[in-house]
Amino acid sequence: MVYRCGFFLALLLGLFCNVSCTRHVGKAPETDAVLMSKLAEEHVKTGPRYAGSDGAEKAALWIQQKCRELSPAWNVTVQEFEEQTVTGNVKFRNILVHKGTLNQDFVLLAAHYDTKFFPPEIPFAGANDGASGVAALLGILHAVKDKDLPVNIVFAFFDGEEARYDYNEKDGLHGSRYLAETWKKNGTLKHCKAMILLDMIGDKNLNITLSQDTARNMRHLLLQAADQMNLRKYVGDYPGNILDDHVPFQNNGIPCIDLIDFQYGPENSYWHTSEDTLDKISGESMKIAADLAINLIWKLAAGVL
Ligand SMILES: [Zn+2]
Repeated sequence: MVYRCGFFLALLLGLFCNVSCTRHVGKAPETDAVLMSKLAEEHVKTGPRYAGSDGAEKAALWIQQKCRELSPAWNVTVQEFEEQTVTGNVKFRNILVHKGTLNQDFVLLAAHYDTKFFPPEIPFAGANDGASGVAALLGILHAVKDKDLPVNIVFAFFDGEEARYDYNEKDGLHGSRYLAETWKKNGTLKHCKAMILLDMIGDKNLNITLSQDTARNMRHLLLQAADQMNLRKYVGDYPGNILDDHVPFQNNGIPCIDLIDFQYGPENSYWHTSEDTLDKISGESMKIAADLAINLIWKLAAGVL
């Protein structure tokens, strides 16, 4: 009976039960909306930052610097690699931030920092699609850095999420695919118990659209957190699957959730256009998404249903 119950719970809760069913965890910390607003503003100032551009290199350096400032005790490493892409050989940089080693179970929290490529005559700030996810991750790092964590958290800032033309093996999701493959080869992936992706969560008119491929347990816990935090009105459904940086991890059996608002402006008209500017996003929206992500981590770790 105990075994069956444990097995049933493990099925429902993913892989956390064996380590954390009885674990007591404190209250989840909160992020700072003003801080995240400032960070998004600063990040946008690095300019267009499509993969392989000078702006991407600048943005990667800025993220490292901010992580070291915000959480000096955490390890900041850069995973640099080159890939043959549809536009030739491109250098990519993922930034990983964690405490201690990667040999213990952890939750991966990720966002992409690259922006969609546009020719120089079309201004593209990537305030929501790029900077908001980065600012949310930095805000979460700042909120949890000194806390007694219920489970280890690894932060990943991905390069090369955006496709130049169409998503395929040589176009788009470069950073996330490379990290999943690297971790699979070196054995780290088995410690990655869940992945939470944040993308385009700064929209002033926030509506997080959960895609159909969201891990069932994570969806359940996220909605439960949203109910308890009185944030349920900000979370809805997306009718299909969404191709994003969670997919390479999902393809390797990792339970994933993509916190993304795929209704950006009327008819999604601010998405991948010069309308994606700082005035369309808010620190409050980033705080809602970031606090939901933190609460989801706490719930996953506690094994609460
Ligand atoms: Zn995009």
